[in-house]
Amino acid sequence: MGKSLLDKVWDAHTVRELPTGQTQLFIGLHLIHEVTSPQAFQMMREQGLTVPYPDRTIATVDHIVPTDTAARPFADEQAEGMMSAIERNCREFGIRFLDRSTGQQGIVHVIGPELGLTQPGITIACGDSHTSTHGAFGAVAFGIGTSQVRDVLATQCLAIQRPQVRRIVVDGTVANGVYAKDVILHIIRTLGVKGGVGLAYEYGGAVFDRMTMEERMTVCNMSIEGGARCGYVNPDETTVAYLRGREFVPQDAAFERAAAWWKAMASDRDASYLDVVPIDGARIAPTVTWGINPGQALGVDEKIPAPESFSADDREVAEDAYGYMDLKPGAAIKGTRIDVAFIGSCTNGRLSDLREAAKIAQRGKVKSHVKALVVPGSQAVAKQAEAEGLHEIFRAAGFEWRLPGCSMCLAMNPDKLVGRQVCASSSNRNFKGRQGSPSGRTLLMSPAMVAAAAIEGAVVDVREFLS
Ligand code: SF4
Repeated sequence: MGKSLLDKVWDAHTVRELPTGQTQLFIGLHLIHEVTSPQAFQMMREQGLTVPYPDRTIATVDHIVPTDTAARPFADEQAEGMMSAIERNCREFGIRFLDRSTGQQGIVHVIGPELGLTQPGITIACGDSHTSTHGAFGAVAFGIGTSQVRDVLATQCLAIQRPQVRRIVVDGTVANGVYAKDVILHIIRTLGVKGGVGLAYEYGGAVFDRMTMEERMTVCNMSIEGGARCGYVNPDETTVAYLRGREFVPQDAAFERAAAWWKAMASDRDASYLDVVPIDGARIAPTVTWGINPGQALGVDEKIPAPESFSADDREVAEDAYGYMDLKPGAAIKGTRIDVAFIGSCTNGRLSDLREAAKIAQRGKVKSHVKALVVPGSQAVAKQAEAEGLHEIFRAAGFEWRLPGCSMCLAMNPDKLVGRQVCASSSNRNFKGRQGSPSGRTLLMSPAMVAAAAIEGAVVDVREFLS
């Protein structure tokens, strides 16, 4: 019986099996940011610990940075405190810090891949749920908590349970106007937000084979929203082509050797899985969330589902969602008025996302009642987008073009919803209060759908803009 990529990577990084049933797993790359690292460094100091592999940790700042100004100190004292802390900690512990002065700052899950830090066959940890993004390269990548950040800093290891693997095969061809975001929202809708608990999701099939690396990142990013511990795509020629020439990958002959090893880490043809879930790509529509978790999603032409269509467990959450979102069963999601449009985040703040959104933006003007923001995922994304004139397209249409950061995905910076505002968002979570207002409402969708909603002032089918 062959092995899955998960098993190959796991076996290659196992230090030992622990009496708890967990594995002591060596972590190849540790990414840190300003929100979940200060307490970890504080614990390091209190326990007199040092960082044995400082070259395996890279820091950036993303969650708290304002996107309308680069000025220091930040107006928000707490944000300034976090920024000062990561600067001091990186200096003291000898860790490379990619701040705004480097031109390489950005959302942690955007800069890892674009710098070539994220590579196939390695283990990656970061104190952020959406670390699963890096699985797009065939890495095994986990989000971890603050005390685990300390563990990785101090030992370069994690005590962790080996997940079983579910293979999700999306075959066929997706229609024009259906993007990677729609594919993952459809998967989560199908399998549920708890469907992947205890599992790794392996994504395969013709739709994934054809996807770009940025599209694969969008899908893997939201594995965690389906409950999975991580998600990955097997490395192939697309992966190798993306990585060639990037700053942190081996160069020349060493690159060719690395590429051969990367591809050998892909799951064997006869690998065994917990189960295999087939999905027909042709049946995926532009998808929008209507509720308070990413599984409460529907095709843009569908009606809000009736309570009877849910299991007893899910019905309670659905009832909660109808009230919170002020949406009624049987109503159309299309036409739902929006107040804010947000294009950005580690799910959909990359160059290809901005290109697709700009194609829509150039077809109209943002409705006067809508506040529309475009926040590139990194300084490198912003630079390339500006070189292509995308910022001018967005500005001409009435969008604000901002500095890179997490922004309104989590609203730990000044970009927040106000009151009961409804936001069409390309981010990954539509939880209550996620975007900064305790009563704010989020509709998740692809960046192109967000751009179309901004122009229409309401949820619209992006295919109407493309036809
Ligand atoms: S963009 Fe959102 S999900 Fe991604 S790292 Fe930032 S806050 Fe987390």
